[in-house]
Amino acid sequence: MSQVIFRKASYDYQTLKQTIFEILDSIEGFEINRQASVLIKPNLLMPAKPEHAILTHPLIVKAVTEYVFEKGGRPLISDSPAMGSLEKIKAQGGYNKALSSFDVEFKAFDTSINVDIGKPFGSIEMARDALEADVVINLPKLKTHSGMLLTLGVKNLFGCIVGLKKPQWHLRSGIDREMFARLLVQIYRAINPSITLVDGIWALEGQGPGKSGKPRRLGVLVGGKNAFDMDMAICTLLGMDPEQLPTHMAAKTLGLVSRSLAINGDVEVVNDFELPVLAPLTFGPKFIQKVMRKHLLQRPEADSLRCELCGECWQYCPAKAITLCKDRIDFDYDGCIRCYCCIEICPHGALCATETLPGKMLRKLSILK
Ligand code: SF4
Ligand code: SF4
Repeated sequence: MSQVIFRKASYDYQTLKQTIFEILDSIEGFEINRQASVLIKPNLLMPAKPEHAILTHPLIVKAVTEYVFEKGGRPLISDSPAMGSLEKIKAQGGYNKALSSFDVEFKAFDTSINVDIGKPFGSIEMARDALEADVVINLPKLKTHSGMLLTLGVKNLFGCIVGLKKPQWHLRSGIDREMFARLLVQIYRAINPSITLVDGIWALEGQGPGKSGKPRRLGVLVGGKNAFDMDMAICTLLGMDPEQLPTHMAAKTLGLVSRSLAINGDVEVVNDFELPVLAPLTFGPKFIQKVMRKHLLQRPEADSLRCELCGECWQYCPAKAITLCKDRIDFDYDGCIRCYCCIEICPHGALCATETLPGKMLRKLSILK
């Protein structure tokens, strides 16, 4: 039976470390041999302070690093940030300070190797460090995601696609959320982390996963070996049906979700966690889909008062659907694939996914499910 561990926690380092060591020690079958190479994969999306609750908290990374050293392993901390340099993330995110007493390698993924992740994607390039490590410790942040509802254990490993290959995959899976969820599930399965530890002490609700989201204290750490099961258990914690989560549905279709879970610890259901509104990406008869997409679908929009015209969004957009137009940015909603990468990376929280008025009216009339 698959075990999912829930523990109450705060960012007080001494108690946090104790709790993390206890979780890691109690996961059946998890061990780090002496001299084992251990990849620690936090969520390092963009430069952000710990209080923004966008990145895995630096003290969690610190406690896990300390655990690996105590077991005699050789840790490497790595991710592939969507924007900003890793040096900036390390400084602003508090990692330099938290890890100052350790001699630990901390770098962005730089080289990829091809791996066959199965149909329909075939061979894709993923970070060599993640694929070749003896042990992978997956350290996601519990947060909302305007495109995929939540980003938890499974989605965190999308960061193992190196650099600009990430937006290319968004583009290749197009506007098909189910296909993108399946891609995430198959990437997770290929990396096959030994353990996942989710930072839900300060989570992010609303229009996550970037600066448009709102920090929310949940005070929980969730640990386990199987992130498919953990993500399902976290949905229950958040008072939602796991079937709302696209990655859960993709994993279920592939037979990767356990039939029964053993929950270790108390789960206090949070009934008022604010999820992003997800409108469907495709619907209606094919011949009018283009018009419907343009006028009815939720889409990214900029708050001109917050936008600093920094250019991060139009440089990153995989569909090249954002342009600078005098003193504001413009979206080409025909070309936009609704991947919401722009929202994710905007350093000023100036973008959010908004529903069109007709789309909102139709959803309220339950025409759009
Ligand atoms: S929306 Fe955000 S990322 Fe895009 S130009 Fe404005 S501030 Fe920069
Ligand atoms: S405009 Fe934003 S949501 Fe649309 S394709 Fe570009 S990055 Fe993705």
